[in-house]
Amino acid sequence: MTEELNPFKIAQAQLDEAASIMKLDKQAHSILREPMQTVTVNFPVRMRDGSTNTYTGFRILYNNARGPGKGGIRFHPQESVDTVKALSAWMTWKCALADIPFGGAKGGVVVDTKKLSEQELEGLSRQYIRSIEKFVGPFTDVPAPDVYTNPQVMAWMADEYSKMHGRDEFGMITGKPLELWGSQGRFDSTAVGGMYVLREAAKLKKLNLRNAKVAIQGFGNAGNFAFDLVTKMFKAKVVAISDSQGGVYSEKGLDYKKLEEAKQHGSVMYYKDARRITNDELLELDVDVLIPAAIENQITKRNADKINTKVLLELANGPVTPEADRILHERGVLDLPDFLVNSGGVIVSYFEWAQNISGYYWTKEEVYKKLDTIITRSFSDVLAAQKAYKGLGRKVNLRMAAYIIALRRVAGAMKVRGWY
Ligand code: GLU
Repeated sequence: MTEELNPFKIAQAQLDEAASIMKLDKQAHSILREPMQTVTVNFPVRMRDGSTNTYTGFRILYNNARGPGKGGIRFHPQESVDTVKALSAWMTWKCALADIPFGGAKGGVVVDTKKLSEQELEGLSRQYIRSIEKFVGPFTDVPAPDVYTNPQVMAWMADEYSKMHGRDEFGMITGKPLELWGSQGRFDSTAVGGMYVLREAAKLKKLNLRNAKVAIQGFGNAGNFAFDLVTKMFKAKVVAISDSQGGVYSEKGLDYKKLEEAKQHGSVMYYKDARRITNDELLELDVDVLIPAAIENQITKRNADKINTKVLLELANGPVTPEADRILHERGVLDLPDFLVNSGGVIVSYFEWAQNISGYYWTKEEVYKKLDTIITRSFSDVLAAQKAYKGLGRKVNLRMAAYIIALRRVAGAMKVRGWY
């Protein structure tokens, strides 16, 4: 049988499995199987040669029982409504697990940003936010960066939205530059949060991270900072890294500065003194910690039995399929689930939003400290849920344990709101 790779089908299958384990109320389950609101927009952008291109974008509000929608915007050539639906569902569970006052949402535009000039990218960002303006706002749905979007894109969107409203609305979007009241520590918060989870997992497994061999797939918003942090915080050795074009491997360990230089030439592949490898090869390396930090469906039935790591730290959204999950679990790989591991981004987004609506700003130290408290608590909540089920004679993996906590919280909010 061919493996199901539609991300939304995968998200629904995960939900169904968790719902059955925890015996989730059938009505709550039915509400949670579909997004509450799916918006598709087609909008024009003026190109540098004077012509106009039409782009398709989405903004999906999965569930807002616990608060306004929250979730990033991806600019990706292969973006699809089902990918955005899946990502919006995962945001709902992510915010619930972190216990921050948001529901889940996600946005996307079908576009290859590598083909756009800076001006065209600005035009696209402004036009997209104009098209979805009715559906976003500080108390309805709050976007943020994701794959191929960044603080500058957020700044253009905040500016455009504020102009439309005739007043500054900084709390309508997070991940903004510091100049526009972004939060201290937001830029690397996804990776920082992932490192706190890794620290806790290593304690649990008695794994010494000093000189541990690490491979990272992806050199974007998450992978780039993960590289720097894993070496600085734990003195671990990153032996391999990749981007969308390919990767490099060095037994001795790679150097962050040299990697940034290579990236200036277009890809980490231009790193000198390292062997070139493919993304597939990277995932199968013999390492202590493997960090998928790119996109979904990277570890599937096809390669799950070749994964050769002690710890799998899912910094990307949806990198492991359910079939791969089962194989990894049977093989005893400690697989730390995405919506726990990468929740640092949205946790600091919550801090940014709170600072924007209160107008009072925090130091970087405060931000990291509060992030550590929340994500470390989430990790121990997940372990405790797993243990509780073990006590009942039921073995559940960490992903299912995390789902159970999140679903309890979202279903609980829907219940008291009287939705079922
Ligand atoms: N895009 C990030 C994620 O997938 C951050 C979302 C946010 O900050 O709202 O978690």
